[in-house]
Amino acid sequence: MSVRAVVMEGPGRPLALHAFDEPRPAPGGAVLEVVLSEVCGTDVHLHHGRLAGVPYPIIPGHVSVGRVLETNGPLADVDGRPIGVGRLVTFYDVFGICGSCWHCLVARAATRCPHRRVYGITTSAADGLLGGWSEQIELRPGVRVLPLPDGVDARTFMGGGCGLPTGFHAVERAGIALGDTVVVQGSGPVGLNAAVFASLAGAGAVLVVGAPAERLLAARRLGADDVLDITETADSDARAAWVRARTGGRGADVVIEASGHPGAVREGLEMVRDAGRYVVVGQYTDAGDVTLNPHRHLNRKHVTLLGCWGYEYSHLHRATLMMARHRERFRWDELVTRSYALEDAAAALADMEALRVVKAVIGPRP
Ligand SMILES: [Zn+2]
Ligand SMILES: [Zn+2]
Repeated sequence: MSVRAVVMEGPGRPLALHAFDEPRPAPGGAVLEVVLSEVCGTDVHLHHGRLAGVPYPIIPGHVSVGRVLETNGPLADVDGRPIGVGRLVTFYDVFGICGSCWHCLVARAATRCPHRRVYGITTSAADGLLGGWSEQIELRPGVRVLPLPDGVDARTFMGGGCGLPTGFHAVERAGIALGDTVVVQGSGPVGLNAAVFASLAGAGAVLVVGAPAERLLAARRLGADDVLDITETADSDARAAWVRARTGGRGADVVIEASGHPGAVREGLEMVRDAGRYVVVGQYTDAGDVTLNPHRHLNRKHVTLLGCWGYEYSHLHRATLMMARHRERFRWDELVTRSYALEDAAAALADMEALRVVKAVIGPRP
């Protein structure tokens, strides 16, 4: 028996379906039969070679849902409850965080541990089935497995995808107070999930600045009070003025950047009020420099400026619990606007890059 998986040979190279030997779990590990994986902006960046340290060839797909096919020794959730064969699960896509380096122990910044590896991003296809665009995934010993809670099916979970814990982490960093006005820059999956969690964190109003129209409609469905289409309002000063017009002329209490455009950071600092908080989570790749005025944007503004890199298991766990509780109010499943078979991975990447989809999923039987 062989297992099919999509291989990204290198930046700009065509994707190819390869056959691999059926994996066997290492002691303490497991093998999942993939149900769905995601197609996200990260995969587009990977295909353009915009991330450093990627060991091509890789099998893309970092956040995925699957059924446990085989384990080698007992597998349990964080409460110690056994996870049996057939169970529908996701897993924390990061492994190898050492718990013993300076970053882990002294700084307590696990997302900056230099030993951290990510499924589908920093794992080579030569090391096994360590990406979700495949019929099966190998879970290495120590990978944290999270059974999907009752009511959360694969499609609902993948409608959140990696944007769910990332948006959750950004909102946690933002420290939103009850009644705050929150601006989210960017209407991709991270921005949409940040808007959801801002509402759940008690925001008095949530404003989303982004594009295209379909994603802004999704933002409205997810409870955004107002949206601004950046293709219609192309002038940065006009966009900041739009925010001030909705915040008594002062600017927003909290701004979360989830757009990926360096220019958005300067713009966001124009949108945030004096002594407000600004979280930058969207600059996942190095898209270039931007000019700030340190006097006006930082010092005199008395702003709190925070970066936000990746997420920890804690964010995935709690975000998934919130999804289970609020899935009727925020229909994450409706964010999935297209599903692709493994054979159609190239089309999936092209559609994601052209923003023709809100959230795209891929799988052996999508
Ligand atoms: Zn470490
Ligand atoms: Zn992703």
